[in-house]
Amino acid sequence: MDIGGLETVVANSAYVSARGGPGAGRDRRSKAQLRLPHISQCEALRAQLGGTAGAQNGGPGAPNGAPPARTQDGGQETSFRWQCVEQPIGKLLFRRFLEGAPQFAAAGALWSEIEAFERCEDAEREGTAKRLRSRFFTPGGSEHCGFLSAGATAPPAGDAFAQARQELLAHLEAAAWAPYRASPEFSRFVQFKWLESQAVNADAFVEFRVLGKGGFGEVCACQRRATGKMYANKRLNKKRLKKRNGYEAALVEKRILARVHSRFIVSLACAFQTKTDLCLVMTIMNGGDLRFHIYNVDEENPGFAEPRAVFYTAQILLGLEHLHQHRIVYRDLKPENVLLDDAGHVRLSDMGLAIEIKEGENKTRGYAGTPGFMAPELLKNEDYDFSVDYFTLGVTIYEMLEAKGPFRRRGEKVENKEVTRRILHDPVSYSDKFSAAAREACEGLLAKDPQSRLGFRGNDCGQLKAQPFFKGINWGRLEAGLVPPPFVPDPRRVYAKDLADVGAFSTVKGVELDGGDAALFDAFASGTVPIPWQEELIETGVFDELNVWGAPGTLPPDLDP
Ligand code: ADP
Ligand code: MG
Ligand code: MG
Repeated sequence: MDIGGLETVVANSAYVSARGGPGAGRDRRSKAQLRLPHISQCEALRAQLGGTAGAQNGGPGAPNGAPPARTQDGGQETSFRWQCVEQPIGKLLFRRFLEGAPQFAAAGALWSEIEAFERCEDAEREGTAKRLRSRFFTPGGSEHCGFLSAGATAPPAGDAFAQARQELLAHLEAAAWAPYRASPEFSRFVQFKWLESQAVNADAFVEFRVLGKGGFGEVCACQRRATGKMYANKRLNKKRLKKRNGYEAALVEKRILARVHSRFIVSLACAFQTKTDLCLVMTIMNGGDLRFHIYNVDEENPGFAEPRAVFYTAQILLGLEHLHQHRIVYRDLKPENVLLDDAGHVRLSDMGLAIEIKEGENKTRGYAGTPGFMAPELLKNEDYDFSVDYFTLGVTIYEMLEAKGPFRRRGEKVENKEVTRRILHDPVSYSDKFSAAAREACEGLLAKDPQSRLGFRGNDCGQLKAQPFFKGINWGRLEAGLVPPPFVPDPRRVYAKDLADVGAFSTVKGVELDGGDAALFDAFASGTVPIPWQEELIETGVFDELNVWGAPGTLPPDLDP
């Protein structure tokens, strides 16, 4: 074996053993640093988050406070949804509060049961719905939720409890949120927010091997010392960014990644800087990209059988829907940008070409994407919207099934100009690898006219999800991560190039960094992103270790003023 090969083996084995499961490689000293502060240290933060100061003994029944003052971020930080529904630790603590308060316990239980219903197997839906109705919707019952309207308790079939859920949250916001903000559970939430707001830098992580090479730097595996959680660290070299005018794109990528939270898009855990680099710490995707799996795993027989393609397409579709609900056009969907995790679930990655449609507008413009994937309206230099991403979805499905793009013959070298001509004018042909349902889905997505293309209508992809191609998909369970993937990557294999093949960067010459650059780097290095950080604490067990409560009716020492 040559030296490069040996280096790869050593790097792979360190990395494979570090990722050997939750808690593996957790570092004692760093773990000790992850401690909740005494609540008296957090009073400023409590005020900022709208807590009722000095009332942490109040518990349920405390006087109703006014809603918290709006903060600089437009109020998100202090909104009920953000504090009690969207942030995972916030939600757990709010639920604990509801359970312990007799007047809210039924509402809290209803909330859990509606979520369980949304995740249940098709065969269990009817029975679960029936039990839920008799438990919470029967007048006179001990858990009757009288705050629900007649419409919510006798829903039309289909979205059975969507309205009940909405009314339930409105009720909790009006009735339970103020007493919650005076409760010990809210104090505990403030302690976690304090911990979350502590600065991060490179010392928080151990670095492992390079996973891939990007335009401005390498992507390495890394592990948070304090929790043992593995991440991918995408480095953007500061001087290379400056030399190639990459600042705007780096900021856009960071901002978009920090805004979206979906199981089907890589998450950003934090953004920080070192002397030389800007760093994006993201969900690690160990299983390689879809392009690799289509072409390189079984070279004799490339492409996927239809059920496997349906599974990936459904997950990609949920990722796209989430982006579009946040007004983001991805523009670069292709098999290479869809990455597999350890379990075989996929996520969209590389938001480098994504763009946000401005508030008050409904279209954007600009030539961006990958030849062979770009939609006709974009190629014709017209204004466009989310429609371009459904065209790329059609190309991606086609490639998964046929192991070639729809506008290219296998192995053909063809100029971009000719590919563009074909996309604009040529019909797509389908081999017998396409079932009638697969062909119908591709035809609907590859429609040249964006008006008649399948896609995002009325804030979701309902029409597309109802296609026969997806008839085997339980969308609720898929959304919850409960559908087992059709293929599980080999845990001992590293689905990345050998180190020697990744390729090195040349040093950047003739660029000096100044104060203006520093201001931009500071804007980039915004630190920890709340949702992924809270998920990490929960999933690694650190949340449970820190969230310790005394005997009922007493306060734990760190909450006792
Ligand atoms: P660029 O935008 O500069 O092209 P990418 O985001 O595409 O950078 O990342 C470069 C390469 O790094 C990818 O092709 C892939 O091999 C690897 N990579 C990127 N993100 C991850 C991740 N989250 N997990 C594992 N590998 C990744
Ligand atoms: Mg890339
Ligand atoms: Mg990119």
